[in-house]
Amino acid sequence: MHLPLSISVIFFSFLLYPILVFPATWHHFSKLANLKKGTRVTGIGNLKHYFHRFGYLPPSPANFSDDFDTELESAILSYQRNLGLPVTGKLDRDTIDVIMSPRCGHDDNTHRFVSETRRFAYFAGRPRWVEAKKPMKAMTLTYAFDKNHLINYITEKEIKSVFKRAFKRWSIVIPVNFTEVENYYTAEIKIGFFKGDHGDGEPFDGVLGVLGHAFSPENGRLHLDGDETWAVDFDTEKSKVAVDLESVVTHEIGHVLGLAHSKVKDAIMYPSLRARSRKVDLRIDDVEGVQALYGSNPSFDYGSLLESEKSSSCGAGGCRGVFGLSIWWLWIVTSLFIHLL
Ligand code: ZN
Ligand code: ZN
Repeated sequence: MHLPLSISVIFFSFLLYPILVFPATWHHFSKLANLKKGTRVTGIGNLKHYFHRFGYLPPSPANFSDDFDTELESAILSYQRNLGLPVTGKLDRDTIDVIMSPRCGHDDNTHRFVSETRRFAYFAGRPRWVEAKKPMKAMTLTYAFDKNHLINYITEKEIKSVFKRAFKRWSIVIPVNFTEVENYYTAEIKIGFFKGDHGDGEPFDGVLGVLGHAFSPENGRLHLDGDETWAVDFDTEKSKVAVDLESVVTHEIGHVLGLAHSKVKDAIMYPSLRARSRKVDLRIDDVEGVQALYGSNPSFDYGSLLESEKSSSCGAGGCRGVFGLSIWWLWIVTSLFIHLL
């Protein structure tokens, strides 16, 4: 099935200060911080284009105006809900910071959320890969690289290792295996690095901004922005705008499999990823989402995922338990209660 480009489609010295910290696409939205409905400021029209691009505003018959109107407020409310931000309808600092972050090129609204408690989402129609002869049994999907569209500053071997690890993370949790093949044209998943307009109606935009995109099942195209400074190791790649290849690849494979964007900030399927940051581990939200499509890999240990997610939520302030109370406080209260009995 070839879905329409419901692309199951991925990041300031005085006057120069803004340019040094966000030296690329979308840094100019910084000046719109703290604006409220009823104001008119140059640049709001560009922000409306941004919201249109990512599925929050319909196309405008004329150019988008610079008015902070009701439509823009609705778009902001919807964006804040989808991105797990405080829902204020205002361009507060948190919202502007996420808007300026590099992100996946797939829009956020070609899906429906499964429920209020679960935050993962699918594409319209809930498409997934199906092996006609053996439905719901372990399947193997092939992938190949477009040799004419790779990058030359990371070796092919390293790129392939990154993809192998990223595919493995998904195949550990679902009964789907991924095998690399040579023939790009017959492979189910087709991978390449492309610059600017590359013929699929979703042009890339240079450094940061959109990082990559992938199409919904069973299309299989997975594209990365060839203008990014991709990194496999931030110790050797020092650029301020370097983007972790493995993080973006893991996210885009989620789209290839049929997941849309999640509102859970820690989830792989959250749409944005800051430069020089790494996020490669599937979270419970990602796992539940993809297993609802494909079932569970029989050897997958859900308990250990639960444990690792619990322990990763333990920061310097201690582990947070139910109602946000520290585990230690719960332990003390429970001990006192038992003592009193
Ligand atoms: Zn995405
Ligand atoms: Zn593309």
